[in-house]
Amino acid sequence: MKQVHNPVREPGTDPARPLVQVDSLDVTFSARTGLLRFEQARALRGVSLEVFRGETVAVVGESGSGKTTLGRASIGQLKPSGGRVLFDGTDLATLGGQRRKAFRRRAQAIYQDPFASIDPYMTLAETLAEPLEIHGVGNRTERRERIEQALAEVRLTPVTEMANAWPHMISGGQRQRLGIARALMLQPEYLFADEPVSMVDASSRAEILHLLGELQARHGVSILYVTHDIATARHSARRIVVMYLGEIVEEGPAADVVASPRHPYTKALIASVPEPNPANRHAHRPVLPGEPPSPMHVPAGCAFHPRCPEAIPGVCDRQPVALETTGPQRRVACHLYADGAAESPPKRDPRPDIPA
Ligand code: SF4
Repeated sequence: MKQVHNPVREPGTDPARPLVQVDSLDVTFSARTGLLRFEQARALRGVSLEVFRGETVAVVGESGSGKTTLGRASIGQLKPSGGRVLFDGTDLATLGGQRRKAFRRRAQAIYQDPFASIDPYMTLAETLAEPLEIHGVGNRTERRERIEQALAEVRLTPVTEMANAWPHMISGGQRQRLGIARALMLQPEYLFADEPVSMVDASSRAEILHLLGELQARHGVSILYVTHDIATARHSARRIVVMYLGEIVEEGPAADVVASPRHPYTKALIASVPEPNPANRHAHRPVLPGEPPSPMHVPAGCAFHPRCPEAIPGVCDRQPVALETTGPQRRVACHLYADGAAESPPKRDPRPDIPA
């Protein structure tokens, strides 16, 4: 099948350089809290992260952790209030006009809600043709060929029938596969996948994640996979980044982080994964107390201390904590691992094995 040439891809790109480099990123929103009163909500606080070519990095956290904000900033949808995002070495803040349009071809998004993100008044073929038309890619015949290829790749078949179908005629899972096909139409190098399986049936989730992995292997695209589900992150990503209240609290190879979590928040996320074994249906699963605090009122010291079962009184509620290297490719932000305590084993390992 003929490939659509992407003229914005740099032929002499350095493969050792991160494709996406987030550097001390701050994102602050102004929130109205009264008739004439506004407060600053700090959605991201000093986040640094790298995504290399062809790898999947999973960003995991609860609602309000800042994971989606990070993803949106990484594709230039949000303006940082501090720090910067480099894409292939270029600061996104310096892009304007045609250079920004060219960047959009290289970085695309898959959205969480397959019902809101697909135009109900466009057929599947029209949905897939839109990005090609906006960016002036191919002639009519080439676009048709590319659309049919994309539908076949995401298994929306028979292709001719599906091309003329309307979104209301297909299921939520099929809509999400259409969203994936649309994101790949311009053959991007980077995909921000924002909870792509959280709103589809359980039966479609594994299929969509498998499909994403398959397409990544075929196209070599880098993926920032944002999810609240550490189990799917373990099986979809090479690296896991755990976020809490706008900060990275733990980072490492996916298998290591899940088998040997260090930060108490990561341990709690792993402990909350449901057990498919009926014999364990009555087993007690620890639950984190309370809700994440408001990003308008970030607690002093370690932001996790009001909910942390391992908090050290007089330390965690006073002393700020920094993300530090604690082992090969492992970083954690926790006083328990400061000053050489890094090599000590984690205190608790609630669920060493997450079922597939
Ligand atoms: Fe818990 Fe203290 Fe570590 Fe924060 S720094 S996660 S409060 S032990």
